[in-house]
Amino acid sequence: MNLLKKDIIFSDVNKLKGVGKQLSKYLKNRKIEKVKDILLNLPYSETDRSKIVNLNKLEVGKIQTIRVLVKKLNFPRIRNLPNKIICEDSTGKIEITYFNSREGYLRKLFPVNEWIIISGKVSFFNKKYQITNPDYVTSIEKEKYVKQVIPKYSLTKGINEKKYRIISEQVINNLPDIEEWLESHFIKKNNFLNWKENIIALHKTKDGQNNLSKTYKRLAFDEICANFLVLSENRKKIKRKKKNKFFKSLISKKILNKLPFELTKSQINVLNEIDKDLKSNTRMFRIIQGDVGSGKTIVSLLAISNVIESKYQCALMAPTEILARQHFNLAKKVFLNTKIKIEFLTGKTEIKTKKKIINDLENGNLDIVIGTHSLFQKKIKFKNLGLAIIDEQHKFGVKQRTELATKGGSNCDVLLMSATPIPRTMMMSLYGDMDISKILEKPSKRKKIITLSKPEKKIDQLWAFIEKQICDNNQVFWVCPLIKESPFLDYSSAKKKFDILNKKFPNKVGLIHGSLDKNKKEIILKKFLKKEIFILVSTTVIEVGIDFPNANLIIIENANKFGLAQLHQLRGRVGRGEKQGTCILLFKEGLSKNAIKRIKILKESDDGFFIAEEDMRLRGYGDIIGYQQSGLKNFRFADPIVHEDLFILAEKYIKKIHNNVNHNKYTFLLKLFDKAEIINENID
Ligand code: ADP
Ligand code: MG
Repeated sequence: MNLLKKDIIFSDVNKLKGVGKQLSKYLKNRKIEKVKDILLNLPYSETDRSKIVNLNKLEVGKIQTIRVLVKKLNFPRIRNLPNKIICEDSTGKIEITYFNSREGYLRKLFPVNEWIIISGKVSFFNKKYQITNPDYVTSIEKEKYVKQVIPKYSLTKGINEKKYRIISEQVINNLPDIEEWLESHFIKKNNFLNWKENIIALHKTKDGQNNLSKTYKRLAFDEICANFLVLSENRKKIKRKKKNKFFKSLISKKILNKLPFELTKSQINVLNEIDKDLKSNTRMFRIIQGDVGSGKTIVSLLAISNVIESKYQCALMAPTEILARQHFNLAKKVFLNTKIKIEFLTGKTEIKTKKKIINDLENGNLDIVIGTHSLFQKKIKFKNLGLAIIDEQHKFGVKQRTELATKGGSNCDVLLMSATPIPRTMMMSLYGDMDISKILEKPSKRKKIITLSKPEKKIDQLWAFIEKQICDNNQVFWVCPLIKESPFLDYSSAKKKFDILNKKFPNKVGLIHGSLDKNKKEIILKKFLKKEIFILVSTTVIEVGIDFPNANLIIIENANKFGLAQLHQLRGRVGRGEKQGTCILLFKEGLSKNAIKRIKILKESDDGFFIAEEDMRLRGYGDIIGYQQSGLKNFRFADPIVHEDLFILAEKYIKKIHNNVNHNKYTFLLKLFDKAEIINENID
């Protein structure tokens, strides 16, 4: 057979022999569109058809292969009765039955008095062995094709093993040699196979089913490398542009002195890191990671003040209006009595005001604009944007943040802030193109939130406690997993809880959930902020970053339903002021061991990064918030928990080659994992 041409690997499957319109449609349902997708569609099991079994040794219910003599074909004239073929070997008889097969076809397939090979699932019916619609019927000369251990792929309607084999073997057995992208000493050192041997082994052995096999690990490593390579190239592109800005580095003493607190060590460190970036002649592309309440906002405002001193404009974007408003209010306080001009811009800003802001930004009459994503509309142009900051950006993918960097122009530094603590391996794969600053400590005045757990049954014990909170002028969050009751899920709903609470504490309770429109949500949040209501019943929509300094108690129902990192974020919404915060986790009775472990971790630890790592270990990486939301759960083979070592290895490898990547060498790898396009996009 001829080897396939290299370029066919990235062509449509219909370029293969035997793949027509219909079949390629079915294959597409299995997400097999290009020939390379066949390479990546690993078998999940295998079928052993390799041994010929005597008819007296057949095992019912198993797929087996037999060598038999065709005795007689039986075509009943009554509809719906199956056609039958009687066969035998020296030890017994068997009936092969077909529904809906034409006579002529069967007569050809089963020539009387000839020996043939049949493989299929054996049943026992009417005291006879039977195979109904066998998978294979073939002449003795071709028995080698059937007598094999055959990989089993998960397939869909319209494609059976036989059909898929024709396609997959066409590819796997005729793979061209491909230039290896990993360095040969690296392959040797890590005991990897070369790429081609490796992919063949994944299809022809059980290795594909074991994510710790050496062959599987090579594939996972390739996938991680492709991912990291994109990030590393992205970084290069962003850093390649030279900044042409004069930068004065001084954080105004006046501003620092006005703060009602001292910065923490971490805050100062991060500010220094930002300062270095601002001064450097390449662009800043940095993310600040800091747990809820670690004080990221003030850090960003201080960075802003630096940039403005150097005569550039700044934009600060938050994901919601209320969060943006909060930052705006803080900024106004921080920059009070300075000449710095700040405006607030959202989708709801009045047209007249909006026009003026847009104008002022373009003319350079405005120093800071704070708002929602309307800040980055096309029609908004800055005279000289020096710094773009995005708060709570975990919903941003690689592409979006690259776009942002592009929009700001080559003089614009980019700073992201995220409160979603994620484990290290994930950090690498999500933000590997950025510099990372971590705020590790929280302002020391902040008290650790007391976390308690209680069975739901004892909910009545809470009322007095809540009553007292309200009397003390404290506010309460009450979180339920569902919006309204569900007949299918035994979880409590926000609507129902609102009714109950509203009866107990009339006129003191508000309700907020995801299906309320944005305006209504904001109205209720404002009421809560202004202390017109004291208890806010909600689903998990309460915004991540909002400061309600007066909220000291959060009650979370069916707490077991949430991930640890999510619970940690939820409880981070209380205790932001001076008073002690409390979090009460409500559970149904009969918790699993795992659930008890989870509660223990939350009670004992206050460290978002530690909690995220533990969460990942207990639940698997797919459930980690931030990862899901980012839409970047893009590893098909690699698993950040199981393959932690590979992530670390890949990070080192990519760092090593970062400065002289031979693009041609890696094209195949990138195309294999659908990354080539991302890398080819240009950045201004
Ligand atoms: P996050 O990192 O979650 O965005 P914020 O920036 O909203 O946190 O800060 C939370 C609260 O902590 C704010 O009220 C802020 O004023 C306060 N804060 C920030 N830094 C300090 C500090 N060094 N000491 C005391 N309080 C601080
Ligand atoms: Mg924040």
